[in-house]
Amino acid sequence: MLQKTLVLVALFIASTLLFSFAGHKRMLRTIIIDAGHGGKDVGARGDYSYEKDICLGVATRLGEEIARSAPDIKLIFTRNTDTYPELHARAKLANQSKGDLFISIHVNSAPPKQHKELVGSKTVVTYTGKGKKRKKISRQVPQYRYYSTPNPAQGTETYIWGAHKNEDKEVAMRENAPMLAEENFQENYGDVDVNSADFTALSLLKTKQFFKRSATLAGMVEEEFTKIGRVSRGQKQRQVGIWVLQATAMPSILVETGYISNREEEDYLNSEKGQQELATCITQALRNYMGWLEKQQLQPQGAAVLVNDAAKESSAHAFLNQVAADEQKRK
Ligand SMILES: [Zn+2]
Repeated sequence: MLQKTLVLVALFIASTLLFSFAGHKRMLRTIIIDAGHGGKDVGARGDYSYEKDICLGVATRLGEEIARSAPDIKLIFTRNTDTYPELHARAKLANQSKGDLFISIHVNSAPPKQHKELVGSKTVVTYTGKGKKRKKISRQVPQYRYYSTPNPAQGTETYIWGAHKNEDKEVAMRENAPMLAEENFQENYGDVDVNSADFTALSLLKTKQFFKRSATLAGMVEEEFTKIGRVSRGQKQRQVGIWVLQATAMPSILVETGYISNREEEDYLNSEKGQQELATCITQALRNYMGWLEKQQLQPQGAAVLVNDAAKESSAHAFLNQVAADEQKRK
């Protein structure tokens, strides 16, 4: 069993190295662009706009920008109009299209801040006792005013799925086994039983690779936003939700492009300039990502790290450390 696993692992690395010589075209052939929400699901609400419309605007511009910059990349949109494809349909479309990357566009929102202010006091009179013993008691009761102000939260965040969700990603990988990235999958791996330990080992490798790629791209997107002066709230792992990021058998990120609850950012997110800037930043990050992918593939050490990891343990912890170390190196 172990031997068979090692053979699979070796084949996997061999195929990865082979791809490297074919250049980025083979490594990033299809990108799925997902405009969040839509139709009856308006997403977050601002003073005058809905999240769903901003998502569609930015996603459309992102598509135009990628097409200009890398016309050989195939683009698939989960929606082009104001409709609501269900999340599982979005993931299915991504997997069936054999996407190499899934980018979801969203807009953040923060609840208004609640305030309590002392505005004075009121005299409250009460009585105790009966008959002659009846006594009047006056006391001062503080008076408050309650009000709310818009939440000043602003900036961008780029999410990847939570590390503990790696297991879910593996399930997605297994379920979508026939559609796994390589076109000559059968040729390379033969008849693989997706429930076998061998296949589990293989999908674990892929999952780790996807996690690292997603984390790297997320960092690059935030880097570009920072360069044009947006407030970056960083690259994060979301612990709950983002089901679609786990269900897609490919690297995937979710970009929160700004806060609709912040009036200044709502204006920016609705403006042509803002949407164009966001699209340009994400496209530049993609360019950097493709360069990084190529470099990764040319360094056999990257593959060696994966093998050692898989051989030693199946936990995501070692890999997480690796991601953190790589992040440090890039900074
Ligand atoms: Zn959203």
